[in-house]
Amino acid sequence: MSLFNFLVSKTIMHVPGPIVGIFAKGYIAGEELKHAVDVTKQLNGKGMMATIDILGEFIKTREEATYFKEQCLEILNGIDKEGLDANLSLKPTQMGLELDKEFAFANIREIVALAAGLNNFVRIDMEDHTCTDDTIEFFRRLREEFPGHVGVVLQSYLRRTLNDIQGLSDGLLNFRLCKGIYNEPRAVAYKEMVTINRSFVCCLEKMFEKGAYVGIATHDEKLVFESLYLIDKFNLKREDYEFQMLLGVDRELRDLLVKDGHRLRVYVPFGKSWLPYSKRRLKENPSIAQHALRQMLGMKSKSV
Ligand SMILES: Cc1cc2nc3c(=O)[nH]c(=O)nc-3n(C[C@H](O)[C@H](O)[C@H](O)COP(=O)(O)OP(=O)(O)OC[C@H]3O[C@@H](n4cnc5c(N)ncnc54)[C@H](O)[C@@H]3O)c2cc1C
Repeated sequence: MSLFNFLVSKTIMHVPGPIVGIFAKGYIAGEELKHAVDVTKQLNGKGMMATIDILGEFIKTREEATYFKEQCLEILNGIDKEGLDANLSLKPTQMGLELDKEFAFANIREIVALAAGLNNFVRIDMEDHTCTDDTIEFFRRLREEFPGHVGVVLQSYLRRTLNDIQGLSDGLLNFRLCKGIYNEPRAVAYKEMVTINRSFVCCLEKMFEKGAYVGIATHDEKLVFESLYLIDKFNLKREDYEFQMLLGVDRELRDLLVKDGHRLRVYVPFGKSWLPYSKRRLKENPSIAQHALRQMLGMKSKSV
């Protein structure tokens, strides 16, 4: 870990909110659903889709989980009412996974049921490795009941992911593939970027082999190149896959992909818990501060 990353990781929890806000601002739509709706409208106007996420994870009470479930239902209804080209992303721990697995499942099931009724879609984000088995099981159960309305995220840094793709290939496959954001132990995750990237390409190839619809979630141009190569190799149509990027990150690459006619979805987080969320993210992955700093110094445009 570089000295900069070490310092960010050690001090971030004590950094005042307004300073963290400087880093977080470009990456979060705002505190309210209306902010996410506004950002999504702007993205849709530029030919991009969105996935809306309300910030909040690893919650401590059932009341909090119920609050977040209600918020997710409101987001889906809001997307429908506003006619947005967007779906919903949620986190199992936000739905109470750490409190009671079946309670969390029931919350997510209610949300996916509404999404199915509205002909929309729910992506179950992947959290740290202690959640992986349960999250995959939720996906398995929900795709049986609501085929085509639910998908899951797999992370290329996990040693298990190629096996997970194989294990899930007895049903409809809808994945988001990303590198993974949590600071995982070497026992479960690759630590070298070169291996994580190689795993990303192998996982994507296996997903395509199995006929999966894949949200290719990366801003790493090397991986975008490899993905385009595989898309061509498998002779995929534009509707067979999409690229996905985080709000505020590498807008130039995003625009290039859209210009070339690829489907692209932007992850649009909003909510009042932006401060603990941003601090946790910066502690887990201090290089985000470096990215943000570079982006600020590079004076990139502030538009979505
Ligand atoms: C749509 C989407 C959904 C995701 N969902 C999950 C999930 O469910 N679970 C999970 O563990 N992880 C998730 N991630 C995060 C992902 O795992 C990676 O940590 C993150 O995308 C950075 O990896 P990268 O492939 O962009 O490559 P990197 O090598 O990390 O980044 C490539 C380049 O992109 C830029 N960049 C990357 N991230 C940022 C940033 N935050 N701010 C500014 N610039 C940046 C930098 O220029 C960097 O050099 C998601 C990512 C995306 C895009």
